[in-house]
Amino acid sequence: MRNVNFLIQKIMNKNDIIKSMKSLSDKQFIELLYEVVKGRFIYKGEENYTQSHLVVANACRLKNDNNKDWGEWSLELIAKHDSKIYPKGWADDSLICQSGECCGHEVISWAKNAICPICGKEVYTS
Ligand SMILES: [Zn+2]
Repeated sequence: MRNVNFLIQKIMNKNDIIKSMKSLSDKQFIELLYEVVKGRFIYKGEENYTQSHLVVANACRLKNDNNKDWGEWSLELIAKHDSKIYPKGWADDSLICQSGECCGHEVISWAKNAICPICGKEVYTS
């Protein structure tokens, strides 16, 4: 932790980093998080028998039909667009309003053709 704090202070003030990240659109923020966590493996020493990577997810629950009580929480994996299908990318202010399923989980994205953040396969959302 000491090294991380030193690095953060050396590059940029932590509050400046937070302020910058908060100024991003949802899509920009998600894309940045995926760049930051790329290659991060949290089970040090278990590389020979564990595959794992971090993903970005949204915890969500809806109001019940009675419009008073809340339903159960669920996780929505947030997927980036498929850059093979959309080589020019998407506008940074695109809404995350598409939803599909892969690997037994709900997957949401700003694009209809996305890449599952778990398995890396193409996933269609609508
Ligand atoms: Zn998948």
